Formats: sequence, C-alpha cells, structure tokens
Amino acid sequence: MRRLRRAKIIATLGPASSTSDMIGRLFNAGADVFRINMSHTSQERMRELVGMIRSVERDTGRPIGVLVDLQGPKLRLGPFTGGSVTVKNGDSFVLDTDEAPGDATRAYLPHREIFSTIKPGHALLIDDGKVKLTVTEADPKRIVTRVVVGGKLSDRKGVSLPDTTIPFSALADKDRSDLEAALETGIDWVALSFIQRPEDIAEAKKITRGRASVMAKIEKPQAVNRLAEIIDLADALMVARGDLGVEMPLEKVPGVQKQMTRASRVAGKPVVVATQMLESMITSPVPTRAEVSDVATAIFEGADAVMLSAESAAGQFPVQAVTTMNRIAEEVEGDPLYRNIITAQRAEPEATGADAIADAARHIADTLDLAAVICWTSSGSTGLRVARERPRPPIVALSPNIATGRRLAVVWGVHCVVTEDAHDQDDMVDRACRIAFKEGFAKPGQRVIVVAGVPLGTPGATNMLRIAYVGADTVGD
Ligand code: PEP
Repeated sequence: MRRLRRAKIIATLGPASSTSDMIGRLFNAGADVFRINMSHTSQERMRELVGMIRSVERDTGRPIGVLVDLQGPKLRLGPFTGGSVTVKNGDSFVLDTDEAPGDATRAYLPHREIFSTIKPGHALLIDDGKVKLTVTEADPKRIVTRVVVGGKLSDRKGVSLPDTTIPFSALADKDRSDLEAALETGIDWVALSFIQRPEDIAEAKKITRGRASVMAKIEKPQAVNRLAEIIDLADALMVARGDLGVEMPLEKVPGVQKQMTRASRVAGKPVVVATQMLESMITSPVPTRAEVSDVATAIFEGADAVMLSAESAAGQFPVQAVTTMNRIAEEVEGDPLYRNIITAQRAEPEATGADAIADAARHIADTLDLAAVICWTSSGSTGLRVARERPRPPIVALSPNIATGRRLAVVWGVHCVVTEDAHDQDDMVDRACRIAFKEGFAKPGQRVIVVAGVPLGTPGATNMLRIAYVGADTVGD
C-alpha cells in the first residue's frame, strides 16, 4: 500500500476516533501518524489507543507513527466566588498568592514563579486572549494590572504570558508521569508544549534517551525568538498555531509558519503545520475555500506534515477530513508550480558524505527520470538527509528497525519498509529493486537509485550510490 503524495497527514485521536475500526478507516483514508493529546487523554486510554494503532499496523503491514502530545505547563487562574466575574476596560485587577476565591478586584494565581519574573508593561492574556491585562506593578506577592480588554473571568481559565519568560521547566509533574507511561508503551514521537528555551528540549531528551523522538511545539514568542537553538536540539518542530495565535498577534502567525518551515528544511528536520486546518469540518462534511487554501499553502511550502486536531478527534466527519487533506495534498503536489516552489526553497548540502550523496541522488534522479530513490537507513538519518533534498521521485527507505519506520512516517516523501539488513552490496541492490517493485514504486525496465552506507548499519557512513535497473528477473519472487 503506497500513498500518492509526499506530505504526510497526522490525525488526532479522541472521542470521535477511539476504536480500532475508526483508526483503520482513518489510516486507509490517508493518516500516516496518530496523535494522542494528553490534555484530554488518561494514561490508561493512551495505552489502549496505542494498542489499537499497533493492531491496525499489523493488519496493514505498514509502519504507523504514534505522537504523544504532552499538556505542558498550562497556567490557570484560581477559582472565583460564584464561578465568574466581569472586568471592564480601565479597571484595576490584582493577581495574588492568596488562595481565597477571587472577585471583581482580584484573583488567585497559583504559579509563584510568575510573581518574581513578570514586569510592568508585560501582558497577561486570559481565556485564549479574550481578556487582556497589562501589568502596572509587580512584587513577589501581588501583580497589579490594568484591564485593556475587558470580559468574563471564570474558574481556572488559562493564562498566557507572551512577554514573560517564566523560570520553570516545560515538563510539569503530570507531563513527566505521562511521558514515562508513553515511553513504556512504546511511542515514536513526543511533542513538548509551551517550551520557551532550548534547555526545555535538552531536559526532555535526558528522559527519553532515544526511546522516542522529540518534537518541539512552537507556540510561544519566547520559543520563536530562540528558534535556531531549539531546532538544533529538537528532532522536529510543530507550528502550533492555536496557542501561537493567542500569544502573538494573529497576523504574525503566517510569517512565523514560513520562517519555521524554511528553517526546518535547512536543518533537515521534519516540520508539522497544525491547528484549525479544516476547522469547519468539525461540523460540516465540506471545508471552506479558505481552509483548502491554508492546507494547500502548507503543502506548497514543503511542510513534512499537516495535522488535524478536533476535526478527527471530536468532529462529526473525521474520515472525510482526512480524505479532504489527502486530496488537497495530491492535487497541490501535481500542480505545475509545485516543483518550482519546492526547488526554490532548497538548501545547499552540508559538507558531509550523507548530504553529498543525497544531493547527487536528487540530481541523478532528475537527469535520468528515475522511478524511486531507495535508501538503506538504520537510524533513519540517511532517510532524513535524502528527504531534505525533496527529490522528484518517491523515497523508499529500507530499515531493519520498525522504530525507524514509525518515526519516518512523519517525514516528507518517505515510504519506509522494514526489512532485514542486506548481506552484501549485490543483495542490497537486488532487494532494493524487488521491494520498490513490490510496493508499487517501480516497474520492470525502470531505473532506481540506491543509496547506502557501506558497511551497512554503520551510523553516519552514507557513502554509496548505485543506479540499478529493475529487471524482469528481480521481480519474479
Ligand atoms: C496548538 O496550540 O496549535 C496545538 C497544537 O496545541 P494544543 O492542541 O495542545 O493546544
């Protein structure tokens, strides 16, 4: 079973998609990776969902990625007497360390770290930015603010601090516990929410120790400001446009999306564009024109993956949402302008054997109109470097590790097949041709390119490139 597009689709699971049957239907419609959002999922449910994904994987024989998205340190107000109050523009409003329920003049803010960091002039956005406060005075016990945009404040509403770097980790106690449970369950990717600094990635990596790859969700201006350092440490990025659009002026989000897709491409790390891509499909079987255009823009930008959130987790039309994304991606990738745009964003190869070979493979594939670029990749790193080149033909990655296949499920253009390592160079080429044929990427008489590191299984040794014919004899068994 092969996809007819290069960009990948991530579908979030939730009440609308929590059975093996529905997960199988979403996979058949085009979902390559499933996301489990720990803001709304218990550890027990997460384990059940991973079990269902793995059973779909066994049935289909294709590696499927599992992405567990940690809630992160979500800041919240304390409770209010009567549940809520309304504040008006120009009012003074105090946030303090007193646990007593709030009223129209004050509220409890149960995050002591904020008090010593926040400064006059900083903004506090409450309930996804519906209410905006500006700090006028701050000391270790009280933050005095002026209401800039008034509205309703109610129990435990979320608080965003776009101007303040808070001295705490991106992993709250719940996240650490969820992460341990997810690693024990055998997930492939973990997404970190509300990171502010590269140190947040380093901290998560100390826990994951290679057992899962780490995706940095960029949803705070502080993280945008340190993007280069974060990309260096993370294994992938997510343009988390939901919270980004609360913490930054909305009109800045498309520029940040472009900046992130380009920087990730240069680094050769996957980038996911997320949130509200087909939002109206939560309740409608067809998307709006603007949504179609938004998904298309991400595909034209060369994003590795586009993501569905509530559309597949809680919407009325989860399968249609995946089918719609699949159709948009196929159409855009067949557009005569697509190749020009993708090629124009190409980054120069780095001075490594893997990049020199990946660059040469792309050139040769173009010159000879080859059917596939096939790469033997143990850890997946050669697959990533070949994908960075965005070659015209599909990339078939061959790996002895199912974990590599699952992690590569999020990467642009890569179709991974799990197969034991080759015995020698002839076996490497023969088997590459046979698998490319069997998986529907090449026909007898067509040529493919085979990339590998010899001796096989030596990390960082990408040093071999062969052009091979798919002969009638190679496809016999
Ligand atoms: C987002 O904010 O865009 C996002 C993907 O995160 P979450 O869905 O966890 O809020």
